[in-house]
Amino acid sequence: MGKKAQAFAGNLYKLSAYRLGLQYLFGVSSQPMIDFRSDTVTRPTPGMLEAMMKAPVGDDVFGEDPSINQLESMSASLFGMQAAIFCPSGTMTNQIAIKCHTQPGDEVICEKLSHIYQYEGGGIAFNAGASVRLIDGNRGRITADQVKENINPDDVHKPSTTLVSLENTGNRGGGSCYHFADIQAIKEVCLQNNLKLHLDGARLFNALVAKNETCKQYGEVFDSISICLSKGLGTPVGSVLIGSATMIKKARRIRKIFGGGMRQAGYLAAAGIYALENHVARLADDHRHTQQIAAALQGKDFVGEILPVETNILIFEVKGRYTAASLAARLKEQGVFVMAIAPTQVRIVVHLDIQPQDVTRTIDLINSL
Ligand SMILES: *Cc1c(COP(=O)(O)O)cnc(C)c1O
Repeated sequence: MGKKAQAFAGNLYKLSAYRLGLQYLFGVSSQPMIDFRSDTVTRPTPGMLEAMMKAPVGDDVFGEDPSINQLESMSASLFGMQAAIFCPSGTMTNQIAIKCHTQPGDEVICEKLSHIYQYEGGGIAFNAGASVRLIDGNRGRITADQVKENINPDDVHKPSTTLVSLENTGNRGGGSCYHFADIQAIKEVCLQNNLKLHLDGARLFNALVAKNETCKQYGEVFDSISICLSKGLGTPVGSVLIGSATMIKKARRIRKIFGGGMRQAGYLAAAGIYALENHVARLADDHRHTQQIAAALQGKDFVGEILPVETNILIFEVKGRYTAASLAARLKEQGVFVMAIAPTQVRIVVHLDIQPQDVTRTIDLINSL
């Protein structure tokens, strides 16, 4: 590691030591906290920081940042698609894709728990002027028949259906994965009805690892794919939108309008390149850890239904002596952070910064409740 990188990493470590000191003083916990609230909470590893420090950079609005150019061409070829664009967030990559594929007044088909509908601030209406047709799916997944039934007829009274958006893995579905054959069936319906198909693949790599699938398979089926680098892959910032050369050219214009044109953001792109090279295969560890925690919860008197664990997200029902909030508070006293996502539902997300000993400590804590 270079001297500057070392000093930077050293400062980061001092900062986290300081934070732990504060926690100790205020009596939250004398042990390091274990943060299961989201896979967005990770800090860059020393190797990632080193890659960032060494990144060649330039002004990306001029198309002159070598690291961003490398990340974009690497992402496109990974999926066997023509082009890609680096953006600050997954919300932006999704919103740009929706804007690219629709005209104001069009309708987008998606599952009712979709991130694009639930957690992007009404962006489909705000940014694209499009309406949404929500489908009641199975843990975030929809079927080809449901898509077919929800396409509007060619009738002047109706918004014209132009886009289908899928999410894999499904966030609110508890990290659920599609069967690839079901995606192919949806693609058939899209082709027959002249609809574009977008993938919110914020956690696509979790699905690929869990189902032993490839990026190329997905590249062949979707018109656009959004991947997040700042979730399971562990970078501080960034998402990539991948598609055809024509679409990505249009996306570049829309990104500028959205205020997402960045300058020497190659430092962030370098983190993304490092993550794609080093942090994909290890997602299997996160999946195994999630299974272990689910097994510890199974059968406890305060635990109701546990959604099937397919990847790194665990959603379970809380009952009896705890509510979701009181269970989260009880765990927090012991330095374990989880998220109450509904009055009786808790979410645990496992990620790069969760070590085997953290899983053991969490399981011991669950057993002691
Ligand atoms: C996190 C996430 C996004 C993007 O979120 P940002 O915070 O804007 O990066 C998109 N879709 C899903 C399913 C997500 O979980």
